[in-house]
Amino acid sequence: TAASETLGFQAEVKQLLHLMIHSLYSNKEIFLRELVSNASDACDKLRFEAIDNPALLEGGGELAIHVSYDKAARTITVSDNGIGLTREDAIANLGTIARSGTREFFSRLTGDQQADAQLIGQFGVGFYASFIVASKVTVLSRRAGAPAGEAVRWESSGDGEFTIAQTEKATRGTDVILTLREGEDDFLSGWRLREILRRYSDHISLPIRMKKEEWDADKGEQVQRDEEETVNQASALWTRAKNEITDEQYREFYKHVSHDFDDPLAWTHNRVEGRSEYTQLLYVPKHAPFDLWDRNGKRGVKLYVKRVFIMDDAEQLLPAYLRFVRGVIDSADLPLNVSREILQESRDVRAIREGSTKRILSLLEDLAENRKDDYATFWSAFGQVLKEGTGEDATNLERIAKLLRFASTHTGTDEQTVSLADYVSRMKEGQDKIYYVTAETFATAANSPHLEVFRKKGVEVLLLTDRVDEWMLSYLREFDGKQLVSVAKGSLDLGGMADEQEKKQQAEVAESVKPLVERLKTALEGRVKDVRVTFRLVDSPACVVADEHDLGQNLQRLLKAAGQ
Ligand code: ADP
Ligand code: MG
Repeated sequence: TAASETLGFQAEVKQLLHLMIHSLYSNKEIFLRELVSNASDACDKLRFEAIDNPALLEGGGELAIHVSYDKAARTITVSDNGIGLTREDAIANLGTIARSGTREFFSRLTGDQQADAQLIGQFGVGFYASFIVASKVTVLSRRAGAPAGEAVRWESSGDGEFTIAQTEKATRGTDVILTLREGEDDFLSGWRLREILRRYSDHISLPIRMKKEEWDADKGEQVQRDEEETVNQASALWTRAKNEITDEQYREFYKHVSHDFDDPLAWTHNRVEGRSEYTQLLYVPKHAPFDLWDRNGKRGVKLYVKRVFIMDDAEQLLPAYLRFVRGVIDSADLPLNVSREILQESRDVRAIREGSTKRILSLLEDLAENRKDDYATFWSAFGQVLKEGTGEDATNLERIAKLLRFASTHTGTDEQTVSLADYVSRMKEGQDKIYYVTAETFATAANSPHLEVFRKKGVEVLLLTDRVDEWMLSYLREFDGKQLVSVAKGSLDLGGMADEQEKKQQAEVAESVKPLVERLKTALEGRVKDVRVTFRLVDSPACVVADEHDLGQNLQRLLKAAGQ
């Protein structure tokens, strides 16, 4: 029907629009970047679907984005001839926030404008950024392959409702038309729009076209000609030579592929030739996405084959413990019709995964070595995920171990800054083991009675309080030839650190308290495995320890909590 229908936004969208208009206002020109990014994604999707179904191209194969403005009507239009939207797509994608992590995002809003602005920047708002500058947004779209009469017209003033109606559209794809708010007329300028496009969208691999302009002396203003020109470089960024790409371009490309509004922390860009041929441009973000801990959340990088977009979130291209990495991998070997199932089996994919893993580990090593502050940022965002690598990636265990950071009795704070190499460099004369204690909180670990003798002897102990730690320790058994040992397990052997005199004294004391030990054993019968004299305590009279071969207490607690 031609009738138009009015529908309400999902509650979160209303809330977000309101917040966003205020908090992102100082950076309002990003609306254009977001619209161009979506237009490019839409073309990528069409190119991919057309591999199996060339009819979708409707005879017009050249994909491009057009940006235009109309001073009289006060509109800016971004058009693409990509995949387009059906009525259902428009309702689902332009009226809701379908991203995972949305709930988490809203739960973290505080009402403090500055803090919330930062959070919004991290979350990213995509299409809705249009409403920062537009009082009305109109979307005209026709899904590729649908008849001209089955196009959709979506319109909203961003105040909680949108209307949707069926309409005619001769060409496939989407026009997004912004009617500018009062006071935003600066954007009605070819010069200004070109500047924004070059700044934020130069990396887009499709041509972005605008009408040429020339100075009209009679009218005393710039006038638009009918002829168009391409205003970006229009080549896939990752195919360009490294020295022809600026840091700014690398950063903007990251925002496009990751949908993150913030800059990346670091990146690595390489073309690999040989047994398997591919280009990789991989980024480490600055902060964790809202769904890092959601097992069903998006992860992985974008896969291209010979510059054709194949899929988002190709998780097979990296191991799970590197799921924070974003970027693109463009393979020259995989078939264009590759599916997720094929990816799982492919030898080429295995080669890519191994190669990319090594690149990321090198990148992290470089950060740890040369950009310590950035490494600390990385560690606090993703350290717990990287620890999973100790169990997941036996091949690279040693490299991962070097990248780990811990809290320890040496620094005495809960900040995880101590590497195993740092620890080893501070080991005492005669010490041949790396000692650690695990606990649920930093306070419990730092106040553990097990630490007393270590403090007395000035021996450093790592304080491990992350959930993954005990699991990690079952894989990470030694470092640099030194065993990792819990201070809470079994009888404590301080190796060469106890001197002869001390040993003799201890033997005498042990002999003299034997009757007491026997009485305790009887009293505690059935409740403990053994009662022993210990010299590991300094101030505390007694403590409970796990047997050498028992699970750590923390792990026991976790298993119990999980009903095991
Ligand atoms: P994101 O790009 O992160 O998915 P956006 O808010 O930018 O989020 O866009 C929301 C969704 O709207 C997109 O995922 C897509 O499905 C749809 N969409 C937006 N713009 C276009 C377009 N030009 N062509 C087709 N679909 C689009
Ligand atoms: Mg987008």
